Amino acid sequence: MKVLKFGGTSVGSAQRMREVADLVTGSGRKIVVLSAMSGTTNSLVEIANYLYKKNYDGANEVINRLERGYLDTVNELFRKEDFKHKGLELVKSHFDYIKSFTKDVFTVFEEKSVLAQGELITTALFNFYLQENGHDSVLLPALDFMRTNKNNEPDTVYIRENLERIMGEYSDDIQLFITQGYICRNAFGEVDNLQRGGSDYTASLIGAAFDVEEIQIWTDIDGMHNNDPRYVEDTQSIAEISFDEAAELAYFGAKILHPTSVLPAKLANIPVKVLNTMDPDAVGTTISSSQHKDRITAVAAKDGLTAIKIKSGRMLLAFGFMRKVFEIFESYKTPIDMITTSEVGVSVTIDNNRHLEEILDDLRKFSTVEVDYDQVIVCVVGDLVAENKGYANRIFEALKDIPIRMISYGGSEHNISLLINANDKKAALQALSAKLF
Ligand code: ADP
Ligand code: ASP
Ligand code: MG
Repeated sequence: MKVLKFGGTSVGSAQRMREVADLVTGSGRKIVVLSAMSGTTNSLVEIANYLYKKNYDGANEVINRLERGYLDTVNELFRKEDFKHKGLELVKSHFDYIKSFTKDVFTVFEEKSVLAQGELITTALFNFYLQENGHDSVLLPALDFMRTNKNNEPDTVYIRENLERIMGEYSDDIQLFITQGYICRNAFGEVDNLQRGGSDYTASLIGAAFDVEEIQIWTDIDGMHNNDPRYVEDTQSIAEISFDEAAELAYFGAKILHPTSVLPAKLANIPVKVLNTMDPDAVGTTISSSQHKDRITAVAAKDGLTAIKIKSGRMLLAFGFMRKVFEIFESYKTPIDMITTSEVGVSVTIDNNRHLEEILDDLRKFSTVEVDYDQVIVCVVGDLVAENKGYANRIFEALKDIPIRMISYGGSEHNISLLINANDKKAALQALSAKLF
């Protein structure tokens, strides 16, 4: 069995859905994971923001615009009147549900339910389309098997048991299962999600649960590139990359993969292929356990970081200083991305400022702190073992005109990270491409 995930652009119009149908209806048993049609989740976030503020006119305008888009898609997608009717009714019922929040209390629970509607509508329409064209496909409701635990981590045992149970209800002749990416239930059974871009994570969790032969991530570009194509021209697709390198790139900003989506595949040793829906014959990228020696593989950048410099003349060399620092971040459930140390202080970066003020207050009880906002980690990934001399030199040569605030190497042998100002990001990525590839 294989898992195939198609992102928002890949199912972004009636025509694209037809192309995806052509790609998935060949031989072999498959679970197909779909995101919402492109732009949908952004619009649902916009709607939720209006609903929080009780701005019902604002909400209705976006709701109506989004609904019209889906009704147009239905009219274009289906040929047979009965399927067109089913599609229109389905879209209307989901939008009636969204509209029901334009008069009532709106909390984080309702927000999660609104955000789930995109994947629910898109998968149902796609499944109708397959059936209209004579395919025996089954829609698997992700909310019946995809679940997180109290730590917001996937509950892998629950996922496997329930997916097996639900699929077991169908005959072995069924070849095609369709399900929603991104959405799940949390430990309390409430509708929740795996964070923005989380459909990739859904695919790898399902792949790992079934120990499938391959996970395919179909998107709008021919694989993982060696730099961010949104900022750098002439980036190249990477034919083969290791799980560890792909995970580093995803974590440090390569939007093509959700940051946590590589780990389940790595643990189960299932190859992940990143493929282009617009160019299905392109080789794309294969992510596997194979390591690639003596090369710099790629560059990525993670935005939206805050750097905190913590100084204490008295405390650093004393036992327990680091523990005290880390305990503060832990108590506010705020992960640290990057860390550097010196004799008089330690600098860390965080990407979640929700508890920043409390964290700073606690740190100030035993140190002085300086804060810099709008920082970016630029991360160079490759075979950077100490014996491969000269790579660090090329990286610093490339960045010679850019102020660098923090440098981190040695946490792993395939990553050098540098902290710079957001304003310098584009120039840094371009300079690195010019010097390294
Ligand atoms: P999907 O909707 O299919 O999940 P995404 O928009 O989430 O697609 O991810 C694909 C996009 O990721 C590409 O269009 C590209 O702009 C961006 N991207 C960022 N970094 C990289 C990279 N290193 N390689 C390829 N694409 C990247
Ligand atoms: N539709 C969701 C989002 O836009 C999930 C995904 O695309 O992976 O974030
Ligand atoms: Mg994505």
